[in-house]
Amino acid sequence: MKKLYFIIGSQDLYGAKTLAQAEKDGFAMAAYLNDSLGNVQVEALPVVQTAAEARVCIVTANTDPDCIGVILWMHTFSPAKMWIGALQNLDKPMLHLHTQYNEKLPYDTIDMDFMNLNQSAHGDREFGFICTRLGIRREVVVGYYKNEAVLHRIRRFASAAAAVDFGKTMRVAMFGNNMRDVAVTDGDRVESEIHFGWNVNYYGIGDLCSCIDTVTEAQIDKKMQEYAGKYEMATDNIAAVREQAKYEIALEAFITREKIAAFTDTFQDLHGLKQLPGLAVQNLMAKGIGFGPEGDYKTSALNAVLVQMAKGREGATGFTEDYTYDLTEGSEVELAAHMLEVPPVFAAGKPKIEVHPLGIGGKEDPARLVFDGIAGEGIAVSLVDMGNRFRLICAEIELIRPCAPMPNLPTARLMWKLKPDFATGAAAWIYAGGAHHAVVSTALTVDDIRLYAKMTDTELVVIDSRTELHTLERELEMLDLMSQLKK
Ligand code: MN
Repeated sequence: MKKLYFIIGSQDLYGAKTLAQAEKDGFAMAAYLNDSLGNVQVEALPVVQTAAEARVCIVTANTDPDCIGVILWMHTFSPAKMWIGALQNLDKPMLHLHTQYNEKLPYDTIDMDFMNLNQSAHGDREFGFICTRLGIRREVVVGYYKNEAVLHRIRRFASAAAAVDFGKTMRVAMFGNNMRDVAVTDGDRVESEIHFGWNVNYYGIGDLCSCIDTVTEAQIDKKMQEYAGKYEMATDNIAAVREQAKYEIALEAFITREKIAAFTDTFQDLHGLKQLPGLAVQNLMAKGIGFGPEGDYKTSALNAVLVQMAKGREGATGFTEDYTYDLTEGSEVELAAHMLEVPPVFAAGKPKIEVHPLGIGGKEDPARLVFDGIAGEGIAVSLVDMGNRFRLICAEIELIRPCAPMPNLPTARLMWKLKPDFATGAAAWIYAGGAHHAVVSTALTVDDIRLYAKMTDTELVVIDSRTELHTLERELEMLDLMSQLKK
């Protein structure tokens, strides 16, 4: 499990006894967090008394590959000039925990010794000033450290920090390139690596075909057993399903060999493949592999990152596409789907394997999973390239069960309502430049995406129950202006 370093601030004026107590208290708090958080380890570093010691702590955090972030807390006053040099070098996400070792004031016994030791109200303000002065984007969490609400916020910080950490070494494969002439799915791959760490590379579809050629009948038999255990076989065209099994085995071999966490394909470049990968991709997505169709590497990478962020939580996270609407006035809903590749993590029941023609790409009928989607509160997240920066758009949505059966629709489908209402939510998304591809999650919330945006210094536009269009348009103008001032 990855870890957060717990850094206790003080100074060398208090004398050995007070400093020893400060360290003892801080170590006890770190141990409590370590035992209580569950999704990250917490390890305390020796109490910081000087600028040199502060530097050592930050270098320790920066250079430890298991460390995904730091928690800072000032037990006593800690003059903040001693933190400048250290903080200028911090390159891990920071949580400033504004708390105390003691929950209640000991009214009967409180004296100046107690006040000198327990003065976070004082020390954390001094520390906060220098973080703000240095322009450090951090998460400030306030409250007694044993409170469940505080623990919840630290856990959430840890999951976002883990996703940032995961992205820094993530490799993404594009089989073929971006779909011809499509704008929103394209992007600056060099900037993606500079900004998020995502290493995105092109591979010829022939590289995958070479892997497909080595798949054996015995391997396909085994994969068919896996499908039979998870899905309902609702087709007689077993040969088409075996073809998808072959693709999945080849894809698994390829991504394992190349250490790939997310990939794209495109129906415009399938030379050597009889079908567009459907079932193969859907089953891989259910295992946490990121995917974006039509060469959409940004959505693919975001998919893998958000799956990491949601690890250990209830709910589903995966790719889908805005497709069509029911525009009945007053009860407008969206139908989201894709040609094939919606992950079965969203399935409300047991998905069916079906084979149907695909009216695009000129290939054989592909096998795919067909299912109705789950209901529940969720978010839709899109990542777009604005030319001089990336923008995340995060909309709150309410997933609903399908309004009626759709017996002739040969693809998996989700339905949802927009917030604050259909007209405002859809217009806001379009004003913000959100794509038709998104990662949808019922495990994550806007706050998770807000943290991720903060930690990666990525622009964020939120669409929720409070969104109002005129204010949003002004916000978008301000973001354009800010982006020009930043560079
Ligand atoms: Mn698409």
